[in-house]
Amino acid sequence: MRSQYTDTALSDTDLQTFVALRRQLHAAPELGAQTPHTAERVAAKLAQWGYQVHRGIGGHGLVGVLQKGQGSRRIGLRADMDALPMQEKNAFAHASQIPGRMHACGHDGHTAILLCAAYRLAKGADFNGTLNVIFQPDEEGLCGAKAMIDDGLFERFPCDAVFALHNMPGAPVGTAVVQAGPTMASSERVRLSITGKGGHGAIPELAIDPVPVVASLINAIQTIKSRNLGPEEYAVISIGMLQAGTVYNIIPDEASLLISVRTDTPQTQQKINQRLEQITRGHEQLFGVSIDVQITQLAPALINHAAETQWVRQSLSPLFAPGQLHSRGPKVMGTEDFAWMLNEVPGCYFMLGNGEGEFHGCSVHNPHYDFNDELIRLGADCWVKLVEDFLV
Ligand SMILES: [Zn+2]
Ligand SMILES: [Zn+2]
Repeated sequence: MRSQYTDTALSDTDLQTFVALRRQLHAAPELGAQTPHTAERVAAKLAQWGYQVHRGIGGHGLVGVLQKGQGSRRIGLRADMDALPMQEKNAFAHASQIPGRMHACGHDGHTAILLCAAYRLAKGADFNGTLNVIFQPDEEGLCGAKAMIDDGLFERFPCDAVFALHNMPGAPVGTAVVQAGPTMASSERVRLSITGKGGHGAIPELAIDPVPVVASLINAIQTIKSRNLGPEEYAVISIGMLQAGTVYNIIPDEASLLISVRTDTPQTQQKINQRLEQITRGHEQLFGVSIDVQITQLAPALINHAAETQWVRQSLSPLFAPGQLHSRGPKVMGTEDFAWMLNEVPGCYFMLGNGEGEFHGCSVHNPHYDFNDELIRLGADCWVKLVEDFLV
């Protein structure tokens, strides 16, 4: 396997440029689908380095294309650009300048890593084929990847494989998890709307009260995980909202529940949805109400493709000390919308340790979190290595 990896190694001066860029992104976070300034900053850099830049894909998504040689292989590398609607509680110089917005998931770092790799791949690396660097907005809202796909991402920029990475707080820099199969959870929002018959609180016999139906539904839904799923079927079912009534002496005519369902395979998700449907129909009969079920799929489970995962592990292993590249990580039921891309194109999503301590070790989405700039070099090393090994 040929690799020009060492020839493209980053100088300390260049690294400092990308550290500074990461900190600028951190100080000026943008939310959800609205990432125009971040996207423009990324686009300008890519154009400067000779990439063909395609803006406005699924909103503020963009793709930079760089071709070298005559090779027909095509690779996609994806970074997310969006921040979170929360107040940063860090006092360092690069802390968010915008109240109520914070890069608390490290997407500033993911963007800097991919830009750093894009720079090196343009300047020094030798590869033979087409590199597509994909920068997406709205990962946190789980809509950015889908919006880009719906806007023709993979028709316009075909990829034989697509890859993404996420930082992993609490694990030392220099460790990685490259895991085949189910890696992140699906997420769906279920709304149950119960319609009974309202009335006076003193005359329940003339009403059909939806409130006891809600109470019974809550208990029944809790049995799905405990009684219907086996030990290998991972799921989280949380009832996050219930609504009924206005005052103490009116029997409301309606009630509703909002439920979060997460699973690690489509099969488990389907099983839960079937049970929700059965429980609902049973409650209609039992209580004489009607219940409308609305299931909204926010993102599918992220399932890494076996062959591409095995390949990533092989390609990256020279970059990690023995025993530091793990093939299995802790079970997480968080969701990652790169799953939509893996439903279209084979690939792998892997994780790199973000370090330990107060800022780098605390959980993502915590007001004290910070991406670890030490990870920029290793993250970019990973991208450069994968591209050089894939586009041969
Ligand atoms: Zn996040
Ligand atoms: Zn994230």
